[in-house]
Amino acid sequence: MIHCIRCEKDAEAIIAMPHGGALGETLKAKVCGLCWAEWNKESVKIINEHRLNLSDPSARAFLSTQMKIFLKLAPPAPLSIALS
Ligand SMILES: [Zn+2]
Repeated sequence: MIHCIRCEKDAEAIIAMPHGGALGETLKAKVCGLCWAEWNKESVKIINEHRLNLSDPSARAFLSTQMKIFLKLAPPAPLSIALS
């Protein structure tokens, strides 16, 4: 059981973790399985909308940033904050 940073509920952690390393550890500690499932659906939309080619490292970096914003691991639109 973890306290989810996104839905702010005590819930089951992510069971299947496609990310390794520090990011995987952070996701397991801070994001619940339900929010992770929502991100999986959302990521398919984002990949289709932006026609991301995931063999391209910049496309993977873009998707990773979107994931952190979606799961509240990063503030929304960090670029506009940096520019203001
Ligand atoms: Zn959650």
